[in-house]
Amino acid sequence: MDINRLKNVLARNGLRPNFTYGQNFLVDENALDDIVKAAGIKKSDAVLEIGPGIGNLTEKLLQRAGFVLSIEKDPKFYPLLRALKKNHRENFRFEIADALEVDFLEILNNQSGYIDYRNPDLQIATDPSVRKHPQIRMPSAYQGRDYKVVANIPYYITGKILQTLLNAKIKPQSITILTQKEVAENIIAKAGDLSVLAISVQLYGRPKIIRTVPADSFYPAPKVDSAILQIDLYKKPKYDLGDEKKFFRVLKSCFAGKRKQIHNTLQNNLRLPKEQVEKILSETKISPASRPQELAIEQWIELAKKIKD
Ligand code: SAH
Repeated sequence: MDINRLKNVLARNGLRPNFTYGQNFLVDENALDDIVKAAGIKKSDAVLEIGPGIGNLTEKLLQRAGFVLSIEKDPKFYPLLRALKKNHRENFRFEIADALEVDFLEILNNQSGYIDYRNPDLQIATDPSVRKHPQIRMPSAYQGRDYKVVANIPYYITGKILQTLLNAKIKPQSITILTQKEVAENIIAKAGDLSVLAISVQLYGRPKIIRTVPADSFYPAPKVDSAILQIDLYKKPKYDLGDEKKFFRVLKSCFAGKRKQIHNTLQNNLRLPKEQVEKILSETKISPASRPQELAIEQWIELAKKIKD
């Protein structure tokens, strides 16, 4: 969809890009095609799309996928998505819901709860006394199976969505997502430049940048350039984190003192006695003067395991 067609679609439907929902529509056909290609979507695949908006990317996904489930927060897009569903009755389902509020595990294999799909005005019917989150589900044929995530979402929720997907009990096979260029570069960084987000991603999969997407490929154009980030998740966990909660507690407390040397953060942020810190660092062969971004993932794992609760 080029920019003129997009403007037409928006005008005809009385829509305007809503800044607070991070609505920047991708109007570059090649970039849209590259996202779908990067995701490697096959007829047997179930795709979870976040933030379909007017359905421009959705339409391309529908041409390739076995099934597409899209979650859109802005109810204004309901008529457009419903129109898209008319042409794709068999392989498309969409929900108006906040992806940050959705329980992804429920989507993929829950048998309880219900959605009243027959009532178009009542997209999500939940019993609030039973579940807090909207009940959104893949059709039964796709439940408990691999799924791929494709998303062009507001950049301020990228980190949160990634964390949710990566920590889901049933993790996606892959995540193909548009992010701010700097964020994508940050995520694929190597030891020496690692961050909490980079580590959180690299623990579970292999991130790579497919290509950058300049700001003028969007309407309205955002202030920053973007990149297509593709993460293939490991089928079996690559690392044994031990106590996962403890691992992230240690990681986050240490990164809270990003500029500080590791021996100081361990003492101050984690309140460990000096002798214990010295012992742990010498056992793990981590230099006391190193700063958190310099440690490799394996070192964080070793370090966290040595720290007692
Ligand atoms: N996929 C379209 C639209 C991208 S704009 C394209 O590529 O052109 C980002 C979309 O994400 C908008 O439709 C916006 O309403 C939606 N969105 C924003 N926050 C969301 C949330 N928390 N959950 C689901 N969708 C969200």
